[in-house]
Amino acid sequence: MKSRKLVYEGKSKILYEGPEPGTLVQYFKDDTTALDATKKAVLEGKGVLNNRISEYLMTKLTDIGVPNHFMRRLNMREQLIREVEIIPLEVVVRNIAAGSLSKRLGIEEGTTLPRSIIEFFLKDDKLHDPMVTEEHITAFQWAAPQEIDEMVASAIRINDFLSGLFLGLGIRLVDVKLEFGRLWENDMMRVILADEISPDSMRLWDVRTNEKMDKDRFRKDLGGVMEAYSEVAKRLGILNELQNNERKGPVLVK
Ligand code: 5GP
Repeated sequence: MKSRKLVYEGKSKILYEGPEPGTLVQYFKDDTTALDATKKAVLEGKGVLNNRISEYLMTKLTDIGVPNHFMRRLNMREQLIREVEIIPLEVVVRNIAAGSLSKRLGIEEGTTLPRSIIEFFLKDDKLHDPMVTEEHITAFQWAAPQEIDEMVASAIRINDFLSGLFLGLGIRLVDVKLEFGRLWENDMMRVILADEISPDSMRLWDVRTNEKMDKDRFRKDLGGVMEAYSEVAKRLGILNELQNNERKGPVLVK
C-alpha cells in the first residue's frame, strides 16, 4: 500500500493528505485523553463509533444547509474532508450548566440555562485552552468580527438542530463544542464547520435517567464509556448497520 503523508496528528485524530488537492483524510483513533491529556486510555472501537456518529450528524447538517468539511466516509475509521484553515477557537454552546461553566460560576450542574450561552476558548494545550472574549479574538486577530458573526450564527443553528434531533431520541444536548475553518474557493473565503461532532465533543444526558452518555464517563471514571457511545449510535440508528456490516462474511458468488 502506498504510504500517505501525515499532515497533523492530534490526541484523538490523524489527518493525512487526501487523494485530491484541497482534501484530507481524517482518521479516528481509539485514544482518549482528558484533564489536559494527563489522563489517557485506549477505548477499543471508539474511533469507529465517532467516525460514524460524526458522519451521520455532519450529513444531517449538510441536509439543512449548514456548510461543513465532511465529504464522505471512506471506511470504518476514515472520512474524506475538505481541507480548511482551522480557526484556533473552540466554540461551545451550552443549554444546561455542566463542566467548566458550573465550576467557574458556581451554577449547579443540571441547571437549565435561561437561554443558550456561547463561549469561546483558545485552542492552546500549553495554556489549557483558556476562555477568551470577542475582544481578545479580534484584538489578537484569531478571527475577524465577520467570522465571529458567522460562527455564532452557525453554532446557534447547529445547537437548535442537534437539540431537537437528540430530544427525539430521549437524549438532552447539554453542551457541544464546535470548531470552524476557513475554506478558500478561488478568491472567496467561507467559514465552515470542521473537526467532529461526537460524544467526545458533546455532553449528552438520557432524558429519563439523566445518565451521562458522553466523554464525562471517562473523565469522571464512571465506567461504561463504550456502552454509552454505542447507545448513542444505536438511538441514531447507526449501530445495527455497523453490526450488520461487521457480521457480513464473504458473499458466495454463484
Ligand atoms: P467544558 O468547558 O464544560 O469543559 O466543556 C464544554 C463542552 O465542550 C463539553 O461538551 C466538552 O466535551 C467539550 N470540550 C471542551 N473542551 C474540549 C476539548 O478540548 N476537546 C473536545 N473533544 N471537547 C471539548
